[in-house]
Amino acid sequence: MTRPNAKGWCPGAYHPMMSGDGLVVRVRPVLTRLEQSQVLGICVAAQDFGSGIIDLTSRANLQIRGVQKQNHNALLQRLNSLDLVPDDPALESRRNFLISPFWKKGDLTHRLAQALTARLCEMPKLPPKVGFAIDTGTAPMFLNDSADFRLERTPSGELLVRADGMTRGHIVAEDEAINALIEMAHWFNENRTDTLKRMAPLTAKKVLPVQWQGTLRAAPASELTPGMHELGAVYGAAFGKIEASRLSNLISSTGANAMRITPWRLFIFEGADLTDTTDFITGVADPLLRVDACPGAPLCETATVKTRGLARELAPFVKRDLHVSGCAKGCARPRRCAVTLVGNAGTFDLVHDGAPWDEPVQTGMMPGTLKDCIGEN
Ligand code: SF4
Repeated sequence: MTRPNAKGWCPGAYHPMMSGDGLVVRVRPVLTRLEQSQVLGICVAAQDFGSGIIDLTSRANLQIRGVQKQNHNALLQRLNSLDLVPDDPALESRRNFLISPFWKKGDLTHRLAQALTARLCEMPKLPPKVGFAIDTGTAPMFLNDSADFRLERTPSGELLVRADGMTRGHIVAEDEAINALIEMAHWFNENRTDTLKRMAPLTAKKVLPVQWQGTLRAAPASELTPGMHELGAVYGAAFGKIEASRLSNLISSTGANAMRITPWRLFIFEGADLTDTTDFITGVADPLLRVDACPGAPLCETATVKTRGLARELAPFVKRDLHVSGCAKGCARPRRCAVTLVGNAGTFDLVHDGAPWDEPVQTGMMPGTLKDCIGEN
């Protein structure tokens, strides 16, 4: 089965999306890093103008939820005063790229991210969900994350440009890397169709220039997990949901000088030790790390079921990964999962080893009956 139509665009700061709890206003942190003062500022803004809930997204962005329409302008002004919306409004939605979270000032990743930011205006107009990955640490980290045009390394450390969906790319010098991305973006635009709007499905149907398929990328890096990293403490946010007051307390008490955002519902507090807290995930054994759940009802108007409370309740009982999805669109994990519960007219359907839109093995299950069924999977 195919995925039901999901929203064809992503919200931004200037172009928010209406949800069941009000506007969702997305902030794209520059280089996916926020100074401590910016973190504190965004937490206050989320409480002053929104519901006090901030989402950590799978594109390493933050979303302020529950903003009433009449507060949007005031929120924009606040974000502007915190230097959180530095873009020309026409270009803001184009700053859609993942950056290896361990970059250091002046290193290759940092230089490439700055160069790409400076030349976004030269990119052709791309479909809203299309994005870039500057995945140029020693080994790629974003192989399972959304990006269409990728900068990576070869096994011997050379710089590689790779189209999503391909196992090979082509080696470029650093000063040619952004030109190569722009060239690939033009190729994509010239060849895409109304149904092939992302690079991976397009490369499955259309042959890329042969010179772009020469060299294999390096083997993937191991997954980041909560705990200590050389950069600082890594925390997890269950389902990517952050209560602004708790984030604000944590960064104040740890004294971290900055926060780096990742696309894996994890964030890094630079220069800080790991603190014992029940507000965030601090250990790799926490079962919530293996569970995804979208906001569900009543936050999403499409949902007919509540999701996250149920996911939290079921987490200790699942032996494999679990996805609780408010409907078949599967926003929280739009791909295969060991066990997926899909909301359907107030009850749940169960999908084994499939995506939310795949054929269920059981339908019409009531929330109270799910624990037994999940425990068997
Ligand atoms: S219910 Fe969940 S999966 Fe469905 S559209 Fe809403 S957020 Fe996405």
